Amino acid sequence: MSKSVAVIGAGLGSLAAAIRLAAAGWKVDLYERLEGPGGKAGNQSLDGYRFDSGPSLVTMPWVFDALFAAAGKRREDYLEFIPLEIVCKYFWDDGMVLRAWADRHKLLSELRRTTGESQARLNAYFERCRRIYDIAGELFLEHNPREPSTIFSARFFKSLLRVGGIDAGRSLAEAHEQAFLSPRLRQLFNRYATYNGSSPYRTPATLSIIPHVEYAGGAYAVRGGIYAIPQALDRLARELGVQLHYQTAVERILHHREAKRGRFRVHGVTVGGAEIAYNAVIAGADVRPVYDDLLQDQEAPDIVRYRKLEPSSSALVFFWGMKRTFPELELHNIFFSRNYPDEFGAIFDRHECPADPTIYVNITSKVTPGDAPAGGENWFVLINAPCDIGQDWEAQTARVRRRVITRISELFRIDLESEIAAESVMTPRDIQLRTASHGGALYGISSNSRSAAFSRHPNRSRRYRGLYFCGGSTHPGGGMPLVLLSAKITTELMLRRQA
Ligand SMILES: Cc1cc2nc3c(=O)[nH]c(=O)nc-3n(C[C@H](O)[C@H](O)[C@H](O)COP(=O)(O)OP(=O)(O)OC[C@H]3O[C@@H](n4cnc5c(N)ncnc54)[C@H](O)[C@@H]3O)c2cc1C
Repeated sequence: MSKSVAVIGAGLGSLAAAIRLAAAGWKVDLYERLEGPGGKAGNQSLDGYRFDSGPSLVTMPWVFDALFAAAGKRREDYLEFIPLEIVCKYFWDDGMVLRAWADRHKLLSELRRTTGESQARLNAYFERCRRIYDIAGELFLEHNPREPSTIFSARFFKSLLRVGGIDAGRSLAEAHEQAFLSPRLRQLFNRYATYNGSSPYRTPATLSIIPHVEYAGGAYAVRGGIYAIPQALDRLARELGVQLHYQTAVERILHHREAKRGRFRVHGVTVGGAEIAYNAVIAGADVRPVYDDLLQDQEAPDIVRYRKLEPSSSALVFFWGMKRTFPELELHNIFFSRNYPDEFGAIFDRHECPADPTIYVNITSKVTPGDAPAGGENWFVLINAPCDIGQDWEAQTARVRRRVITRISELFRIDLESEIAAESVMTPRDIQLRTASHGGALYGISSNSRSAAFSRHPNRSRRYRGLYFCGGSTHPGGGMPLVLLSAKITTELMLRRQA
């Protein structure tokens, strides 16, 4: 008889885990408290404008392809990825503009022309990023470095011998101080720390793998917006026989004591007051509410350790339906702050929104015109923000909104406020309430320490046999491709152990 599993949540990690197990012949029930799939990769509509409410950029497309291939399908038959010619357009407030071209030759010539950095330094930088990716990718992304099956594998051992090459001894910002003469380039590449909710002044230089992934592996938009991804995974899961239960919260994870001291065996979940038996459970929700509410266990060593870790940053997002189009903007746009160190000091030390934040504007109607009424645009305006610890979000939002409008109005010599036809806001507290992520952290824990890559919550519980974890708060971390990889690591462990 086939094994059965309850998957908690319909975030991208959970959906991917459900797909992989169903493809391997398991009976899969997936429970999601919200009305549809996606979790943080959500969707919202406002007066004729459609917005993605979470991620906006696809990298590592091979990770998505591999998920579909595991189910015997082709990603192209479910999802269209559109390669970007300009990955991002960067603006500084003295008027300098830089286009980050996907094409390496064009990128290097733009970086040289705008910043005066030499070809030799640029080549050396990208080569260093590639070398770090070669080692760290194998060490962290494809396996859990704390599992015995990983530690004793020959490939992992070979990578471990080269671990000194991952540049974990200095911060990303220190590495960029040495790599570049141009302060603009330092700021531009420091920004990659925010891709997993960290500070470039504290995260190890190992994170140089992120620009490598973006420039060597390509950056993509999705036809229909990022929300097309959870929709496609929902469709594939259904085709494979996964039973999807939306608007259905899991209330408890059922377990009983085992003969071995301090160990438990998971045997099902409680849903709508009813106990349902399963061979295994995958928690794809944030690990903190899993322990607090579903296990009601404050003493498990994994959660005691986890609670001590610093959460990743969150975000304050404005959804603006614009009355007109802005040809000077691309799909992805960044307006850099004047004082980058102070910005991260505000987020991680003072736990407040920066006074002069870097502003990210994503406009999916540039690629999917139906996302805005004819002649208009849908602006997703994000600033990096601290997690919710009870701040006055109304006051913080009003202050940031004023700053963002002034900044873009001055740069383009327009009255931005008068161009906004429809508006809504999402604060870190809203993210927490909607997606049940602790403090509204976008990526689980930050990577603001050398040990962070080894500290994420494990994919398998040692205290609760039959309980597995995937998603952004577990290894290898948050972000779309990484949560898909967490599902791969988790389900491979389950298939090896047969629950
Ligand atoms: C504003 C924003 C911007 C982002 N930008 C990017 C980006 O540019 N690039 C990128 O790669 N990533 C980005 N991310 C992060 C990315 O969205 C997440 O890392 C990823 O989508 C998380 O997936 P997950 O599998 O961890 O599940 P989550 O999305 O965290 O979903 C967990 C789900 O579990 C459900 N759940 C919780 N408890 C229960 C329960 N008891 N019963 C049933 N269901 C439950 C929740 O309702 C939720 O739907 C962003 C996120 C946000 C919010």
